[in-house]
Amino acid sequence: MMSQLVAIPSISSASPDWDHSNEAVVRLLAEWLEPLGFRNEILPVPGMPGKVNLVATLGTGSGGLVLSGHTDTVPYDDKRWQSDPFTLTEKDNRLYGLGTCDMKGFFALAIEAAREAAQQPLKQPLIILATADEESSMNGARALAEAGYPKARYAVIGEPTTLKPIRMHKGIMMERLVFEGQSGHSSDPSLGRNALEGMNEAMNELLALRAQWQEKHRNPHFAVQYPTLNLGCIHGGDNPNRICARCELHFDLRPLPGMDMAELRQTILTRLQPLASRRELSLEFQPLFDGVPPFETSAEAELVKVCEKLTGQQADAVAFATEAPWLQQLGLETLVMGPGSIDQAHQPDEYLDLSQIDPTITLFKQLIRHFCL
Ligand SMILES: [Zn+2]
Repeated sequence: MMSQLVAIPSISSASPDWDHSNEAVVRLLAEWLEPLGFRNEILPVPGMPGKVNLVATLGTGSGGLVLSGHTDTVPYDDKRWQSDPFTLTEKDNRLYGLGTCDMKGFFALAIEAAREAAQQPLKQPLIILATADEESSMNGARALAEAGYPKARYAVIGEPTTLKPIRMHKGIMMERLVFEGQSGHSSDPSLGRNALEGMNEAMNELLALRAQWQEKHRNPHFAVQYPTLNLGCIHGGDNPNRICARCELHFDLRPLPGMDMAELRQTILTRLQPLASRRELSLEFQPLFDGVPPFETSAEAELVKVCEKLTGQQADAVAFATEAPWLQQLGLETLVMGPGSIDQAHQPDEYLDLSQIDPTITLFKQLIRHFCL
Protein backbone atom coordinates (compact mmCIF):
# COMPACT_ATOMS: atom_id res chain seq x y z
CA MET A 1 0.00 0.00 0.00
CA MET A 2 2.75 2.39 0.94
CA SER A 3 4.61 2.00 -2.32
CA GLN A 4 1.44 2.62 -4.32
CA LEU A 5 0.62 5.73 -2.28
CA VAL A 6 4.12 7.12 -2.73
CA ALA A 7 4.07 6.37 -6.48
CA ILE A 8 1.14 8.74 -7.12
CA PRO A 9 2.25 12.39 -7.13
CA SER A 10 -0.07 14.45 -4.90
CA ILE A 11 1.93 17.62 -4.32
CA SER A 12 -0.04 20.66 -3.27
CA SER A 13 1.43 24.09 -3.70
CA ALA A 14 0.41 27.70 -4.13
CA SER A 15 2.57 27.58 -7.27
CA PRO A 16 0.47 26.16 -10.16
CA ASP A 17 3.57 24.53 -11.73
CA TRP A 18 3.82 22.20 -8.73
CA ASP A 19 0.19 21.75 -7.78
CA HIS A 20 -1.38 18.31 -8.40
CA SER A 21 -4.81 16.82 -7.91
CA ASN A 22 -5.05 14.46 -4.91
CA GLU A 23 -7.98 12.55 -6.37
CA ALA A 24 -6.01 9.48 -7.50
CA VAL A 25 -4.70 8.96 -3.95
CA VAL A 26 -8.21 9.30 -2.52
CA ARG A 27 -9.64 6.86 -5.09
CA LEU A 28 -6.95 4.33 -4.21
CA LEU A 29 -7.71 4.63 -0.48
CA ALA A 30 -11.43 4.22 -1.21
CA GLU A 31 -10.67 1.11 -3.27
CA TRP A 32 -8.84 -0.45 -0.33
CA LEU A 33 -11.42 0.59 2.27
CA GLU A 34 -14.53 -0.54 0.43
CA PRO A 35 -13.92 -4.30 0.71
CA LEU A 36 -13.40 -3.80 4.48
CA GLY A 37 -16.97 -2.50 4.70
CA PHE A 38 -16.27 1.25 4.78
CA ARG A 39 -18.80 3.58 3.11
CA ASN A 40 -16.78 6.04 1.05
CA GLU A 41 -17.83 9.62 0.47
CA ILE A 42 -15.60 11.61 -1.86
CA LEU A 43 -16.28 15.30 -1.27
CA PRO A 44 -14.96 17.90 -3.73
CA VAL A 45 -13.33 20.93 -2.09
CA PRO A 46 -15.44 23.90 -3.25
CA GLY A 47 -13.67 26.18 -5.71
CA MET A 48 -10.67 23.85 -6.06
CA PRO A 49 -11.00 21.58 -9.10
CA GLY A 50 -9.22 18.23 -8.66
CA LYS A 51 -9.06 18.54 -4.87
CA VAL A 52 -11.19 16.14 -2.83
CA ASN A 53 -11.61 14.94 0.74
CA LEU A 54 -12.48 11.35 1.61
CA VAL A 55 -14.74 10.42 4.52
CA ALA A 56 -14.71 6.63 4.89
CA THR A 57 -17.01 5.29 7.61
CA LEU A 58 -17.21 1.83 9.15
CA GLY A 59 -20.22 1.23 11.40
CA THR A 60 -22.87 3.73 12.41
CA GLY A 61 -23.67 6.05 15.28
CA SER A 62 -23.03 9.58 16.41
CA GLY A 63 -19.81 9.01 18.37
CA GLY A 64 -16.72 7.16 17.32
CA LEU A 65 -13.15 7.78 16.30
CA VAL A 66 -11.67 9.62 13.32
CA LEU A 67 -8.18 8.68 12.12
CA SER A 68 -7.20 11.62 9.98
CA GLY A 69 -4.41 12.40 7.55
CA HIS A 70 -3.63 14.60 4.58
CA THR A 71 -3.12 13.09 1.14
CA ASP A 72 -0.89 15.84 -0.27
CA THR A 73 2.87 16.29 0.04
CA VAL A 74 5.18 19.25 -0.32
CA PRO A 75 7.17 19.75 -3.55
CA TYR A 76 10.59 18.06 -3.79
CA ASP A 77 14.04 18.84 -5.11
CA ASP A 78 15.03 15.70 -7.01
CA LYS A 79 18.67 16.76 -7.33
CA ARG A 80 18.97 16.44 -3.58
CA TRP A 81 17.33 12.99 -3.39
CA GLN A 82 19.52 9.88 -3.46
CA SER A 83 16.59 7.76 -4.72
CA ASP A 84 13.50 8.45 -6.81
CA PRO A 85 11.03 10.32 -4.53
CA PHE A 86 8.12 8.36 -6.10
CA THR A 87 9.66 4.89 -5.68
CA LEU A 88 9.41 3.42 -2.19
CA THR A 89 12.98 2.34 -1.43
CA GLU A 90 13.96 0.21 1.55
CA LYS A 91 17.48 0.84 2.83
CA ASP A 92 19.14 0.83 6.28
CA ASN A 93 15.86 -0.17 7.98
CA ARG A 94 14.12 2.84 6.49
CA LEU A 95 11.46 3.33 3.84
CA TYR A 96 12.43 6.26 1.65
CA GLY A 97 9.96 8.17 -0.52
CA LEU A 98 8.05 11.45 -0.75
CA GLY A 99 5.16 11.27 1.72
CA THR A 100 6.38 8.20 3.62
CA CYS A 101 6.56 10.19 6.84
CA ASP A 102 4.48 13.29 6.02
CA MET A 103 2.12 11.55 5.68
CA LYS A 104 0.73 9.17 3.07
CA GLY A 105 2.48 6.32 4.92
CA PHE A 106 0.05 6.89 7.78
CA PHE A 107 -2.89 5.69 5.66
CA ALA A 108 -1.30 2.31 4.97
CA LEU A 109 -0.82 1.76 8.71
CA ALA A 110 -4.29 3.05 9.66
CA ILE A 111 -5.92 0.74 7.11
CA GLU A 112 -3.84 -2.18 8.38
CA ALA A 113 -5.04 -1.42 11.93
CA ALA A 114 -8.66 -1.13 10.75
CA ARG A 115 -8.75 -4.69 9.35
CA GLU A 116 -9.47 -6.15 12.77
CA ALA A 117 -12.45 -3.83 13.33
CA ALA A 118 -13.82 -4.68 9.88
CA GLN A 119 -14.55 -8.23 11.04
CA GLN A 120 -16.84 -7.37 13.94
CA PRO A 121 -19.81 -5.18 14.80
CA LEU A 122 -18.74 -1.76 16.09
CA LYS A 123 -20.36 0.01 19.04
CA GLN A 124 -19.19 3.33 17.64
CA PRO A 125 -18.07 4.13 14.08
CA LEU A 126 -14.51 4.30 12.83
CA ILE A 127 -13.90 7.04 10.27
CA ILE A 128 -10.82 7.33 8.10
CA LEU A 129 -10.54 10.90 6.93
CA ALA A 130 -8.22 11.87 4.09
CA THR A 131 -7.90 15.56 3.30
CA ALA A 132 -6.61 17.73 0.46
CA ASP A 133 -4.19 20.65 0.51
CA GLU A 134 -2.89 20.55 4.08
CA GLU A 135 0.57 21.59 2.91
CA SER A 136 -0.68 24.65 1.05
CA SER A 137 -4.05 26.29 1.72
CA MET A 138 -5.51 23.95 4.38
CA ASN A 139 -8.69 24.31 2.32
CA GLY A 140 -9.56 20.61 2.57
CA ALA A 141 -9.97 20.76 6.35
CA ARG A 142 -11.50 24.23 6.13
CA ALA A 143 -14.17 22.91 3.71
CA LEU A 144 -15.04 20.06 6.09
CA ALA A 145 -15.38 22.48 9.02
CA GLU A 146 -17.61 24.73 6.92
CA ALA A 147 -19.77 21.78 5.88
CA GLY A 148 -19.97 20.59 9.51
CA TYR A 149 -18.88 17.12 8.46
CA PRO A 150 -17.89 14.47 9.56
CA LYS A 151 -19.30 14.33 13.06
CA ALA A 152 -17.76 12.00 15.61
CA ARG A 153 -16.45 12.18 19.15
CA TYR A 154 -12.65 11.85 18.88
CA ALA A 155 -10.00 12.51 16.23
CA VAL A 156 -6.37 11.49 15.99
CA ILE A 157 -4.36 13.22 13.29
CA GLY A 158 -1.46 10.97 12.30
CA GLU A 159 1.13 13.66 11.55
CA PRO A 160 4.70 12.57 12.32
CA THR A 161 5.26 12.88 16.09
CA THR A 162 7.12 9.54 16.57
CA LEU A 163 3.87 8.42 18.25
CA LYS A 164 4.08 11.03 20.98
CA PRO A 165 0.68 12.53 21.80
CA ILE A 166 0.51 16.23 20.95
CA ARG A 167 -2.28 18.38 22.33
CA MET A 168 -1.22 21.87 21.31
CA HIS A 169 0.47 23.93 18.66
CA LYS A 170 0.78 27.60 17.84
CA GLY A 171 -1.15 29.29 15.06
CA ILE A 172 0.38 30.70 11.88
CA MET A 173 -0.45 34.08 10.42
CA MET A 174 1.30 35.72 7.47
CA GLU A 175 0.35 39.33 6.90
CA ARG A 176 0.96 42.01 4.32
CA LEU A 177 1.16 45.73 5.07
CA VAL A 178 1.41 48.36 2.31
CA PHE A 179 1.83 52.12 2.69
CA GLU A 180 1.37 54.40 -0.26
CA GLY A 181 2.34 58.08 -0.22
CA GLN A 182 3.63 60.44 -2.88
CA SER A 183 7.02 60.59 -4.58
CA GLY A 184 8.96 63.80 -5.08
CA HIS A 185 12.47 65.23 -5.19
CA SER A 186 14.44 64.41 -2.07
CA SER A 187 15.66 67.99 -1.73
CA ASP A 188 12.22 69.17 -0.57
CA PRO A 189 10.30 66.87 1.83
CA SER A 190 7.13 68.93 1.35
CA LEU A 191 6.88 67.63 -2.22
CA GLY A 192 5.95 64.10 -1.16
CA ARG A 193 4.81 61.71 1.54
CA ASN A 194 7.41 59.12 2.43
CA ALA A 195 6.04 55.56 2.66
CA LEU A 196 9.40 54.17 3.80
CA GLU A 197 9.52 56.49 6.80
CA GLY A 198 5.94 55.53 7.60
CA MET A 199 6.95 51.87 7.44
CA ASN A 200 9.86 52.52 9.77
CA GLU A 201 7.42 53.89 12.33
CA ALA A 202 5.00 50.98 11.69
CA MET A 203 7.77 48.44 12.26
CA ASN A 204 8.59 50.06 15.58
CA GLU A 205 4.90 49.81 16.51
CA LEU A 206 4.87 46.12 15.54
CA LEU A 207 7.97 45.42 17.62
CA ALA A 208 6.41 47.25 20.56
CA LEU A 209 3.26 45.14 20.17
CA ARG A 210 5.40 42.03 20.03
CA ALA A 211 7.08 42.99 23.31
CA GLN A 212 3.64 43.50 24.90
CA TRP A 213 2.34 40.15 23.66
CA GLN A 214 5.47 38.37 24.80
CA GLU A 215 5.16 39.98 28.20
CA LYS A 216 1.54 38.94 28.53
CA HIS A 217 1.44 35.45 26.94
CA ARG A 218 3.64 32.55 27.91
CA ASN A 219 3.23 28.80 27.70
CA PRO A 220 5.91 26.56 29.20
CA HIS A 221 4.89 23.57 27.01
CA PHE A 222 6.51 25.16 23.96
CA ALA A 223 10.23 25.23 23.18
CA VAL A 224 9.70 28.89 22.27
CA GLN A 225 7.40 29.80 25.13
CA TYR A 226 6.08 33.10 23.82
CA PRO A 227 4.26 34.26 20.66
CA THR A 228 6.61 35.37 17.88
CA LEU A 229 6.42 38.09 15.28
CA ASN A 230 9.00 38.10 12.49
CA LEU A 231 9.51 40.98 10.07
CA GLY A 232 10.24 38.82 7.05
CA CYS A 233 10.63 40.97 3.95
CA ILE A 234 10.30 44.56 2.86
CA HIS A 235 10.22 46.31 -0.49
CA GLY A 236 10.10 50.05 -0.94
CA GLY A 237 11.49 52.90 -2.97
CA ASP A 238 13.93 52.96 -5.85
CA ASN A 239 16.35 55.85 -5.46
CA PRO A 240 18.20 57.64 -2.68
CA ASN A 241 17.16 61.02 -4.05
CA ARG A 242 13.48 60.27 -4.54
CA ILE A 243 10.87 60.38 -1.78
CA CYS A 244 9.64 56.79 -1.42
CA ALA A 245 6.03 56.51 -2.59
CA ARG A 246 5.33 52.89 -1.76
CA CYS A 247 6.55 50.39 0.80
CA GLU A 248 5.39 46.82 1.43
CA LEU A 249 6.18 44.67 4.45
CA HIS A 250 5.43 40.97 4.99
CA PHE A 251 5.52 39.54 8.48
CA ASP A 252 4.76 36.28 10.24
CA LEU A 253 3.01 35.91 13.55
CA ARG A 254 2.79 32.71 15.63
CA PRO A 255 0.12 33.09 18.31
CA LEU A 256 -0.09 30.82 21.34
CA PRO A 257 -3.26 28.85 22.13
CA GLY A 258 -5.77 31.26 23.63
CA MET A 259 -4.80 34.16 21.35
CA ASP A 260 -7.46 35.05 18.78
CA MET A 261 -6.25 35.76 15.24
CA ALA A 262 -9.01 38.23 14.35
CA GLU A 263 -8.35 40.16 17.56
CA LEU A 264 -4.62 40.30 16.83
CA ARG A 265 -5.28 41.69 13.36
CA GLN A 266 -7.63 44.30 14.80
CA THR A 267 -5.06 45.34 17.43
CA ILE A 268 -2.42 45.77 14.73
CA LEU A 269 -4.73 47.84 12.57
CA THR A 270 -5.73 50.07 15.49
CA ARG A 271 -2.05 50.78 16.17
CA LEU A 272 -1.15 51.52 12.54
CA GLN A 273 -4.11 53.55 11.35
CA PRO A 274 -3.31 56.75 13.33
CA LEU A 275 0.26 56.91 12.08
CA ALA A 276 -0.86 56.34 8.50
CA SER A 277 -3.43 59.15 8.69
CA ARG A 278 -0.99 61.53 10.41
CA ARG A 279 1.46 60.91 7.56
CA GLU A 280 -1.33 60.95 4.93
CA LEU A 281 -0.36 57.50 3.72
CA SER A 282 -2.91 55.04 2.40
CA LEU A 283 -2.80 51.78 4.31
CA GLU A 284 -3.54 48.25 3.11
CA PHE A 285 -3.40 45.46 5.64
CA GLN A 286 -4.49 41.92 4.85
CA PRO A 287 -3.49 38.29 5.42
CA LEU A 288 -1.27 36.61 2.79
CA PHE A 289 -3.25 33.44 3.53
CA ASP A 290 -6.16 32.72 5.84
CA GLY A 291 -3.88 31.42 8.56
CA VAL A 292 -3.99 28.43 10.89
CA PRO A 293 -5.51 29.06 14.31
CA PRO A 294 -3.62 27.92 17.39
CA PHE A 295 -4.74 24.56 18.80
CA GLU A 296 -5.10 23.19 22.30
CA THR A 297 -6.95 20.22 23.78
CA SER A 298 -7.24 20.10 27.55
CA ALA A 299 -4.76 17.94 29.46
CA GLU A 300 -7.81 16.43 31.16
CA ALA A 301 -9.55 15.36 27.93
CA GLU A 302 -10.35 11.65 27.71
CA LEU A 303 -8.51 11.19 24.41
CA VAL A 304 -5.39 12.78 25.91
CA LYS A 305 -5.57 10.53 28.97
CA VAL A 306 -6.07 7.39 26.86
CA CYS A 307 -3.20 8.20 24.47
CA GLU A 308 -0.88 9.07 27.36
CA LYS A 309 -1.67 5.74 28.97
CA LEU A 310 -1.20 3.74 25.76
CA THR A 311 2.10 5.39 24.84
CA GLY A 312 3.48 5.98 28.33
CA GLN A 313 4.28 9.54 27.25
CA GLN A 314 2.93 12.85 28.45
CA ALA A 315 1.07 14.89 25.84
CA ASP A 316 3.12 17.83 24.68
CA ALA A 317 3.33 20.72 22.21
CA VAL A 318 4.95 20.98 18.76
CA ALA A 319 6.33 23.83 16.68
CA PHE A 320 4.39 22.95 13.51
CA ALA A 321 0.74 23.55 12.64
CA THR A 322 -1.87 20.96 11.65
CA GLU A 323 -5.51 20.62 10.61
CA ALA A 324 -6.44 20.10 14.29
CA PRO A 325 -8.17 23.51 14.74
CA TRP A 326 -10.74 22.63 12.03
CA LEU A 327 -11.44 19.18 13.43
CA GLN A 328 -11.95 20.89 16.79
CA GLN A 329 -14.42 23.25 15.13
CA LEU A 330 -16.37 20.13 14.14
CA GLY A 331 -16.71 19.36 17.84
CA LEU A 332 -14.12 16.57 17.84
CA GLU A 333 -11.81 16.06 20.77
CA THR A 334 -8.55 16.16 18.80
CA LEU A 335 -5.00 15.00 19.30
CA VAL A 336 -2.00 14.76 16.96
CA MET A 337 -0.07 11.48 17.08
CA GLY A 338 1.49 9.51 14.26
CA PRO A 339 4.46 7.57 12.93
CA GLY A 340 7.74 9.08 11.75
CA SER A 341 9.61 12.17 12.80
CA ILE A 342 8.94 15.75 11.73
CA ASP A 343 12.73 16.02 11.28
CA GLN A 344 12.35 13.96 8.09
CA ALA A 345 9.31 15.85 6.81
CA HIS A 346 9.75 18.41 4.02
CA GLN A 347 13.33 17.11 3.50
CA PRO A 348 15.15 15.38 0.64
CA ASP A 349 15.40 11.63 1.33
CA GLU A 350 12.26 11.71 3.45
CA TYR A 351 11.86 8.35 5.18
CA LEU A 352 9.84 6.38 7.66
CA ASP A 353 11.87 4.26 10.04
CA LEU A 354 10.79 0.60 9.86
CA SER A 355 10.81 0.47 13.67
CA GLN A 356 7.75 2.80 13.64
CA ILE A 357 5.53 0.44 11.69
CA ASP A 358 4.55 -2.27 14.19
CA PRO A 359 4.12 0.09 17.17
CA THR A 360 1.90 2.35 15.04
CA ILE A 361 -0.37 -0.48 13.91
CA THR A 362 -0.58 -1.77 17.50
CA LEU A 363 -1.37 1.68 18.89
CA PHE A 364 -4.06 2.40 16.29
CA LYS A 365 -5.61 -1.03 16.95
CA GLN A 366 -5.72 -0.21 20.66
CA LEU A 367 -7.38 3.13 19.94
CA ILE A 368 -9.96 1.48 17.72
CA ARG A 369 -10.68 -1.16 20.38
CA HIS A 370 -11.03 1.52 23.05
CA PHE A 371 -13.25 3.94 21.16
CA CYS A 372 -15.15 1.77 18.64
CA LEU A 373 -15.45 -1.83 19.87
ZN1 LIG B 1 1.92 16.79 7.39
